[in-house]
Amino acid sequence: MTTDPRQVDVLIVGAGPVGLITAFQLAKFGGISVAIIEKNSKSIQDAYGRAITLYPRSSEMLDQLGLAEELAQQCFACRETATYNSHGEEVHGRGWSFMETGMSDTAWNFALVLRQKYQEDVFRRALREYGVEVEAPVRLDGIVVDESIPLLQHRVTATVHDELTSERKTIKCKFVIGCDGGHSSVRRLIDIPFRGLTTADKWVRVDGLVETNVPRPRTYCAIESPTHGNVLWVGLDRGRTRIGYAFTQDREKAYKVFDEAAAVKEAIAAVKPFDVTFLTVDWWTIYSVGQRIAETFEKKDCIFLAGDACHTHSSGAAQGMNTGIHDSVNLAWKLSLVLRRLARTDILQTYQAERMPNVERLIQYDRDISRLMTNRLPEDWQGDPEADVNAILGQVMGEAGSFSSGLGIFYELAETSLLSVPGSFTSSQQVVDVQQPVGPGRRAPDVTLLKPGTFESTRLISETPNRSSFYLVLFAGNPLLTEATAFADAFDTSTYLSGIQSRGKWADSHAQSVLANNWTGLLKCLTVLPQPASSAYEVLGREPLGRAFFDTHEGVAYKRYGVDVGAGCVVLVRPDGWIGTMLSLSESSVREVEMYFSRILL
Ligand SMILES: Cc1cc2nc3c(=O)[nH]c(=O)nc-3n(C[C@H](O)[C@H](O)[C@H](O)COP(=O)(O)OP(=O)(O)OC[C@H]3O[C@@H](n4cnc5c(N)ncnc54)[C@H](O)[C@@H]3O)c2cc1C
Repeated sequence: MTTDPRQVDVLIVGAGPVGLITAFQLAKFGGISVAIIEKNSKSIQDAYGRAITLYPRSSEMLDQLGLAEELAQQCFACRETATYNSHGEEVHGRGWSFMETGMSDTAWNFALVLRQKYQEDVFRRALREYGVEVEAPVRLDGIVVDESIPLLQHRVTATVHDELTSERKTIKCKFVIGCDGGHSSVRRLIDIPFRGLTTADKWVRVDGLVETNVPRPRTYCAIESPTHGNVLWVGLDRGRTRIGYAFTQDREKAYKVFDEAAAVKEAIAAVKPFDVTFLTVDWWTIYSVGQRIAETFEKKDCIFLAGDACHTHSSGAAQGMNTGIHDSVNLAWKLSLVLRRLARTDILQTYQAERMPNVERLIQYDRDISRLMTNRLPEDWQGDPEADVNAILGQVMGEAGSFSSGLGIFYELAETSLLSVPGSFTSSQQVVDVQQPVGPGRRAPDVTLLKPGTFESTRLISETPNRSSFYLVLFAGNPLLTEATAFADAFDTSTYLSGIQSRGKWADSHAQSVLANNWTGLLKCLTVLPQPASSAYEVLGREPLGRAFFDTHEGVAYKRYGVDVGAGCVVLVRPDGWIGTMLSLSESSVREVEMYFSRILL
């Protein structure tokens, strides 16, 4: 039976973490209709397994969306790592040690370990608060795009099958986002090749409650096993532990059936010379390792892929869900602004332009890391054929560290880039953390700021929540030396900029969003003064632009952004917390701000 076509703005296929977070953002930003379908009732999905770790940049992005606090309530915050060689001796600078050195410069300076099921529960609840329920079990069966219908109209017809009622239904939508995992139906239905390969390597993961004599068991830990590769040992939420190991073809021959008992037996062998006893097994899996990437992340301007639907890799560096979150956060605000008729449709092309090079980088690292974790040297290895795989693994993990933590992920400043634009600012100061420079296309570091009056500490991320708005951060410097007041005066007289500050508001019955409406508008301003003072007004000699904050007594924010107190700077931060552009502070920079927005906004 077919019912009348229902219409929505965006149909999201798949309610894994990426689909849920994407739906959440679109619902939260408001003003458009969203449906999310999932072919499985989650009760029959794997109870606990798969992803466990969020890296700092993912946590920051979820923090900006108001999702991280609940995850932090439940997680095991893992700040320590340990690596043991095959004799059980602790060795340093190998395995996961990059986590201890490469995850600073953020309040989320730890591996947030929480099993995927619990993360998904948090995302699903948050989505429900915005009135969107996952429709399950409902499977996508077909997609047709009528290209004669203009973009931003209901040009996509999706056919879905309700697994409970056996009804076939049609949903008409403007955009489809395929968040439907490695075997994506969306990708297949619209014929996007998935390039790469699945290797013969198999890995096993077992989660449970254990007793052990591993010296430091509540860490992110590697055990360099001669038989089971670089064994993963991680303290999980709720006192659980994950053990992961390579399951070679040799070992496979020993089993007719590889079941839970076999997975546990091999886990016990993998952690030798240590002992482990499983008191419970919550979940286990065996899976093939491979790397694949979709030829394109977007087709016909209205079908997008995100998460595992457009890239899969081993879980060796624990990147799949993290990378999917990056995709989702990159896409959602752009799509929201386009659908709300606030931004040009061109900005949607920046999704693939920004995300694909980062996914390719991940896949290159993952190829090497997954081979090394299986006790083999990288495929294109030119060095000593007898090299110690565990030492090389440590080096590769170290090199990939700032990428893996997400803190070093950047978007190229291409000539044609609309969103990451080199501005007039050049720092005269040495930036404090040279590993992760500050600039357009890079993350805006989450510096500590002080609130006026109380001098209570806050963080830039807390003051720049992701509500699909841009933020102009005015580092005013010492106004006696800088052109801060001239800039602020010129900013205030720009009718174009005052227009975009009030645009993007929308009426919504959701109580929290009504509150949030005071906040929405395409551009918000913050003024950061270089040191605590009695009043921002008195320092500036005029009202600050937007809300005022002070740098700490040590001047950490100015130093981190490389801003000279005698010169000041303007930082334009995108809704997703990446820097759009940085401008020197002068009256004429207001024109640069106008130009930035005039290229992307309607
Ligand atoms: C053992 C293991 C450990 C891992 N550890 C980590 C880790 O620590 N950190 C990390 O970042 N990543 C890790 N990953 C990877 C991570 O689990 C995935 O990258 C992540 O789940 C991808 O999320 P997703 O939402 O894109 O896809 P999925 O989680 O696969 O969700 C896709 C959803 O789409 C649904 N679907 C599919 N087809 C249809 C259809 N036709 N109609 C409707 N619904 C459909 C599916 O049922 C599914 O619920 C691990 C993976 C494994 C296997």
